[in-house]
Amino acid sequence: MPDIIQLLPDHVANQIAAGEVVQRPASVVKELLENAIDAGATHIKLVVKDAGKTLIQVIDDGSGMSDTDARLSFERHATSKIKSAEDLFNLHTKGFRGEALASIAAIAHVELKTKTESAEIGTRIVIEGSKVVEQEAVVSPKGTTISVKNLFYNIPARRNFLKSNPVETRHIIDEFHRVALAHPQVQFHMIHNGSDVFNLPVSNPRQRITRIFGSKANEKLVPVSEETEIVKVDGFVVKPEYAKKSRGEQFFFVNHRFIKSPYLHHAVNSAFEGLIKEGTYPGYFLFLEIDPKSIDINIHPTKTEIKFDDEHSIYAMLRATIKHSLGQFSISPVLDFNKDSSFDTPYEYSKKSPTNPTIEVDKTFNPFKDSATTGLKGMGKQPYNPKKDPHWESLYVGMKDLTKEGTVEGVQFESQEVTGSFFESSETEQGQTTFQIQNKYIVSSIKSGIMVIHQNLAHQRILYEGILRNMTVQEAVSQQLLFPLEFDYTPDEIGLLTTVKEPLEHTGFVFDALEGEKVTISGVAAGISESTVKEILDALLSDLKEEVPDAGFSQNDLLAKSLAKSMAIKSGTALRPEEQEHLIHQLFACKEPSVSPNNKKTLITMEASDFDKKFM
Ligand code: ADP
Ligand code: MG
Repeated sequence: MPDIIQLLPDHVANQIAAGEVVQRPASVVKELLENAIDAGATHIKLVVKDAGKTLIQVIDDGSGMSDTDARLSFERHATSKIKSAEDLFNLHTKGFRGEALASIAAIAHVELKTKTESAEIGTRIVIEGSKVVEQEAVVSPKGTTISVKNLFYNIPARRNFLKSNPVETRHIIDEFHRVALAHPQVQFHMIHNGSDVFNLPVSNPRQRITRIFGSKANEKLVPVSEETEIVKVDGFVVKPEYAKKSRGEQFFFVNHRFIKSPYLHHAVNSAFEGLIKEGTYPGYFLFLEIDPKSIDINIHPTKTEIKFDDEHSIYAMLRATIKHSLGQFSISPVLDFNKDSSFDTPYEYSKKSPTNPTIEVDKTFNPFKDSATTGLKGMGKQPYNPKKDPHWESLYVGMKDLTKEGTVEGVQFESQEVTGSFFESSETEQGQTTFQIQNKYIVSSIKSGIMVIHQNLAHQRILYEGILRNMTVQEAVSQQLLFPLEFDYTPDEIGLLTTVKEPLEHTGFVFDALEGEKVTISGVAAGISESTVKEILDALLSDLKEEVPDAGFSQNDLLAKSLAKSMAIKSGTALRPEEQEHLIHQLFACKEPSVSPNNKKTLITMEASDFDKKFM
């Protein structure tokens, strides 16, 4: 019997491979968008005609390719992304199989134009059915443009199998969403049959979701955030009351790659158990970050399935985190969130480090009991009603007598004239328990003596903790300005502000524009008055210039310190008695009441025994 085995010609092998990689126009869209991301593009434009059946074009401003690479990129198993099998365990790119371009070129008319940053001239290649029909040098900008025309032109069965244009368009938009959601820092633009479908500016994840799913989406989102040794989860779930009858907005991303995971989906569902109606589906946008070593994405050619090493822990963690978030944000009103962090803050002053002042306090005393005066919304400026806090006075024994006298040896009482109104007025029945010296210090009687609070530093502490909290929960209330404020800055300063735009937004700032030499603000954090916005930005800029923050925590910290400093009640401001009490009240709801954000003392105490010595 003669030998019958022969090697398939490349173009046939490519066509077969293409069957796996390219099922429909949307698959091409996915591969091309992912290549653009891998090439480090910051601006990606997708142009589609007739649901991708006639044209799919992706234009990026990424790295581009040399002319040799441009030619090689269409070979099967040609990739710049891995060199050895080990690299598979440390993947940071979307692609790695080196199959996409080869597959696409086998079943369509493809034109590639590309140029690297350093090259003077670019390359243009035209390929039809795996054959290079043209290659020439062309003038082109940095980056890559790939046009895929007449998909499946040489496989009629495949082409006939395609669904109607609306259905294929839907698939394309789905892929576009997945990539755009995973990369909010990249600008995306999609055009279908000549009209704009999406124009997505650089933004944060929340804005990107809102931009895609409509401004209403914003109110529906509950932030989710947790980090353990194996996985970091960030993102949002949709409040249970907005659960849908159809599986709509359900997105898992692992290391910025959209994935499907029935197992993790189950974890989310179970977190919603009892909160949503039978037959409805929760929405979620969850971004997981995991060491690439502990996942395997190579089990499916289109790479949407994934295998985790430690699936069970991830499941448990996800479920618990979402339950927790739902408990905090959507079941109980946002205002109540504070309860978790500050209502339970015990007055355990004596447990602090020895250098801190010691105060005798009533540990059962909870100033917030029955009081609706907390909440992060006003970040420390809500009206305080002392009538509701009958226990409050326990901190201030003997104070009445002191103030009735009007003067104490060597201490001049300031008049209680009020210059600014920080808090709404509220009458106090029980008389004054605090007083101000030089419009700078608040003096209060405590069991063992007196406490002197630096009003400015204390208020900085209160605001600082409030701002940090708002940044983490990303639920700050913004105060809409009647007319947007516009300020001019240098491009450098605008650049600096851009680096902190996202955390500023979390505190309640709304930027209408932040580019060139202009910033337009249409909303500010609650508690900031319109007239001080410029001052606050100026101060922030000078702080930012002084101390270049690195990403993440320390940047938020710097920002919170700066804002707290600008917003805090200044020394020299007269405060009404109830304002003084409110300040003290809030100070002790802080995690670290005794020091300012910059580690200065916010208060000192003097024991009665110290006075005794003075009178000897
Ligand atoms: P893979 O992405 O798996 O590496 P592809 O067939 O999608 O395989 O692409 C092959 C190679 O072509 C990539 O590894 C990359 O080096 C190059 N390439 C593809 N698209 C682009 C692009 N838009 N910009 C720069 N290089 C690209
Ligand atoms: Mg690729």
